[in-house]
Amino acid sequence: ATAHVPNRAAHFDTSLSITARKYLQTYGLTPPRAESYEVQKTRCLAQLALKTTPIEKFLYLSTLRYNNVHLFYRLLTDHFTELTPLVYTPTVGEACQRWSEIYQQPEGMYLSFEDRGHLSGIIQNWPQGNVEITVVTDGSRILGLGDLGVGGMGIPIGKLALYTGCAGIRPEVTLPLTVDLGTSNKALQADPLYMGSHRDKVTPEEEREFLDELMAALKERWPDIVIQFEDWKNPFPSLERYRQDYAMFNDDIQGTGAVIMGGIIGAVKQSGVATRDHRAVFLGAGSAGVGVAKQIVDYFIHEGMTEEEAKSRFWLVDSKGLVTQDRGDKLAEHKTYFSRTDNNGQQFQTLDEVIEYVKPTILMGLSTIGGAFTPDILQKMATWNERPIIFALSNPSSKSECTFEEAITHTDGRALFASGSPFQPYAYKDKIYHPGQGNNMYVFPGIGLGTILSKAVQVTPNMIYASGEALPTMITEEEKQISLFYPCIARIRDVSARVALHVIRAAQKDNVDRLHHLREMNDESLEAWIKDKMYDPHQETKEIENEIRELVDDLAA
Ligand code: NAP
Ligand code: MN
Repeated sequence: ATAHVPNRAAHFDTSLSITARKYLQTYGLTPPRAESYEVQKTRCLAQLALKTTPIEKFLYLSTLRYNNVHLFYRLLTDHFTELTPLVYTPTVGEACQRWSEIYQQPEGMYLSFEDRGHLSGIIQNWPQGNVEITVVTDGSRILGLGDLGVGGMGIPIGKLALYTGCAGIRPEVTLPLTVDLGTSNKALQADPLYMGSHRDKVTPEEEREFLDELMAALKERWPDIVIQFEDWKNPFPSLERYRQDYAMFNDDIQGTGAVIMGGIIGAVKQSGVATRDHRAVFLGAGSAGVGVAKQIVDYFIHEGMTEEEAKSRFWLVDSKGLVTQDRGDKLAEHKTYFSRTDNNGQQFQTLDEVIEYVKPTILMGLSTIGGAFTPDILQKMATWNERPIIFALSNPSSKSECTFEEAITHTDGRALFASGSPFQPYAYKDKIYHPGQGNNMYVFPGIGLGTILSKAVQVTPNMIYASGEALPTMITEEEKQISLFYPCIARIRDVSARVALHVIRAAQKDNVDRLHHLREMNDESLEAWIKDKMYDPHQETKEIENEIRELVDDLAA
C-alpha cells in the first residue's frame, strides 16, 4: 500500500532539516545538505528542460508528483501557466492515447466490469483512509480523441491535480477513478500492450447497473464523497440518475455551462445590448452545447425572462443543420428541449443559412469543427452588431471555430471573443487585443471545494449557477478596460475561493449544506475561512518540521 501516500514521500524531501531526517530515520538516505525550495525548484526546472518532448515532460512531472507530492504542487502553483499544459490539456491527451505504452505507476483506482458484485470490497484497497473527492471516467470520450479505454485514466489524475493546484484540495483526499467497461476502440482491443479488458463496450443497461453499485460503494466507504463525472460518451443518463442522491456533478455539461455563462454575463454587459434582445446561435448541440445553452437560459431567467422567452433566444445547429422538431430525424433526447417549432416547415442545413435567418448577437462554437466561423460569417456578425459576441470554444486550438486573429481582423477589433484553448494577444491597427479563455478550470475546482467544505449532500443547479456568477466578480478594473471578461489565470487560487464562497451560499439557500455554522459568517469571514482551509504546498514541509520539533522537545523534556 505505497500508492499515493504523500506524507511518506515528503519524508524524503531534500529540504527537510537534519533533525527531521534523524527523527524520521531517513537520515543518510538522501544527500547530506538540507536545501531551500529555491534550489529544489532550480533543479526540477533544469531536469524538466532536459526533456525534449511534451510526453517526456508529462512523465517527469508524474514521477515528481509520485515521489514528492508537495514539491510537485509547489512547482505547479508557482509556474501554473507554463506547467498546466504539461499536466493537463493538451499533453494529457497524448498521454491518454499512449497510456498502455507509457504506464509507470499506480496513481488511482481501476475498477472493471468483471468486478461487479465486489466493488465495495475492492474499494477497501485504496490506501488512503479519507477521500473527499473523486473524478470518474470510463474513458469512452476523452477530450475530442474518442474512446481510449483505461487510457482515460490520465484525465481523472490531471483533473484532480488541478483541484489541488487551483482550489487547494489536499492531494491525499483525491481519488482518480477509471472504470473499465470495455472499449469500442478496435485498435486498443488489438494492441497487446493495452492494459484494459479487450472486450467490447458493455450495454447502457449493464453500465447503469455497474454504476448503481459503484456509487453506493463509494458512499458506503466515504459518506461525504464528492463525485465528478468526466468524459463519458453519453453523460446525460448518469447525471439525471444520481444528482439527487449523491453530491455529484458532470463537468463536461455543468462546469462548461457555468464557465461559459460566467463569460457571457460579462460579455453581455460589455455589448451594451439588453439581455432580452440577445439571440444566440450555437454550432454544436452535444453535451457541451446543450449544457451551455441551458445554463445561459438560467441566466436569462435570473434577468427576468420567463423560461419560454429565454429558451426562444437559442438556435442550435448540429451536423444535420438547425435543430427543429419537424426536420424528420429522431432527435437525441438532450436536443429536444431546444428544438425549434417556429420554422414554418423551413429547414436550414448550413450555419450560413441559420445566421442569415436569425441574425444573432451571440455566436457560440462547440462543434469540434476548426474554422467553421469563416471570414464571411465573422464579417456578417460585425455588420449586424456593434460588439458581436464570438465564443469559439472547441479544443484543441486546431479545432477552434476561428482563431483570435480571425475574430479580431474580420470584425475590425469589435468582437467580444473567448476561446476554449489559449490564444496569444494580437496586435491590430496599433492596438493590442487580449483573448478570453473560457476554461472549465475557473469553476470546477471551486465547485468541488465549496461542496466539500459545506458538506453539501447534493450539487444543485443553483450551486452550479453560483459558480459561474462568481467569475465576473473577480474581474479587475484593468481587465474590464481591455474588454476581458475572465480573470487572469494567475489569480486562480483566489478565483476558486470566491467560486467556493458563492457555491456554499447557494448550498445554504437550497438547504443541502450540513455545516450550518458557516451560515452565521459574513461573506468576508467565510471567504477568509475558505482560504485558510486550502492546502498550501509551501507550508507542508514546514508543518512536518514543526511537528517533529515539538515531538523532539517533548522527548527532551
Ligand atoms: P460532442 O458531444 O461530440 O458534440 C459535438 C456537437 O457538434 C454535436 O452536436 C455534433 O452534431 C456537432 N457537429 C459535429 N460536426 C458538425 C458539423 N460539421 N456541423 C455542425 N455541427 C457539427 O462534443 P462536446 O463534448 O459537446 O464538445 C464539443 C467541443 O466543445 C469540443 O471540441 C470540446 O473541446 C469543446 N469544449 C470546450 C469547453 C470549454 O472551452 N470550456 C468545454 C467543454 C467542451 P451531432 O449531434 O449531429 O453529432
Ligand atoms: Mn471533459
